Amino acid sequence: MPHLEGLGFAVDWGDRVSYWREDPAKVAALRVREDARAILIARDMPVLHKNGPGLDALLPIGEIEALGGAEAEALLGLQPDGAPVFAALLPDGAVDMRSDSSDGFRDLRELVAPGREDLKLIDLRSIAMSGLVPQDQAAMLAAAKALMHWHARRRYCSNCGALTEVAVAGWRRDCPACKALHFPRTDPVVIMLAVDGDACLLGRQPRFPKGMYSALAGFLEPGETIEAAVRREIREEANVACRAVQYFASQPWPFPASLMIGCFAEAESRSVEVDGVELEDARWFTREETMALIERRHRDGLTAPTPMAIAHHLLKHWAYKGVRFA
Ligand SMILES: [Zn+2]
Repeated sequence: MPHLEGLGFAVDWGDRVSYWREDPAKVAALRVREDARAILIARDMPVLHKNGPGLDALLPIGEIEALGGAEAEALLGLQPDGAPVFAALLPDGAVDMRSDSSDGFRDLRELVAPGREDLKLIDLRSIAMSGLVPQDQAAMLAAAKALMHWHARRRYCSNCGALTEVAVAGWRRDCPACKALHFPRTDPVVIMLAVDGDACLLGRQPRFPKGMYSALAGFLEPGETIEAAVRREIREEANVACRAVQYFASQPWPFPASLMIGCFAEAESRSVEVDGVELEDARWFTREETMALIERRHRDGLTAPTPMAIAHHLLKHWAYKGVRFA
């Protein structure tokens, strides 16, 4: 995978030590270490510590108890300096909601931890967009948020309805009644740039910020290859047929638990027919126009996603380096 400057949540932050998860004594020993840190999630939102003028996503492990204990915990891994990091899901009651002006694209809930002026809850998209924490911390937050989102909604066995128990250091939930084992989900999404010569196909979802165009995207379905999903989505959303599909790079996208699989697709024609449901518009952009989108100087004020999102890097790679299909 190429190094993509600024791509959110995609950096290596340490060692997941997955081989220790089934050793409760080992996990407990890490949990009581002086240098152990916790990433806290409450109502799907990270809890950050105000650290002078900056913000810190890694809190002392003792904050879990100080804030009333966790409903679920997971060993995320070890940082490069060896310090253990845990993720914890705080009960909803640990924070109060002051207001909610969410618009369907951004999470604009104002959550506060009562009596804790030193803590600040900020939604992960804003944290990443504004670079409020270092990239490795943002990647840890992504893992913690996706995992805790799953714990918060999978308390009961989907097979028999019994209450499940947290197992293997927070990476599984086991049903004591029917013995089913439940694993956290990652939902694969294909996101692709269809290209033809010196033009690429971009679309707009109705919920996008005004004037923003991006690569088309959609969920991979059971029994489907990445290549087939790419072709199907482009055909469904814009009625463009594609030949070759080429993988580019991937990005964890914890909204709530996706993996974005970035690809290029070789379009067979430039006719476009928008489905009007998922997309409100789709059109071809020339290479020059695409550069203008990326550099935020498009003559009609149109924009493309920021470097935090893989769509930006698909556009940039194609516009400046070009793509050759095998
Ligand atoms: Zn069960």
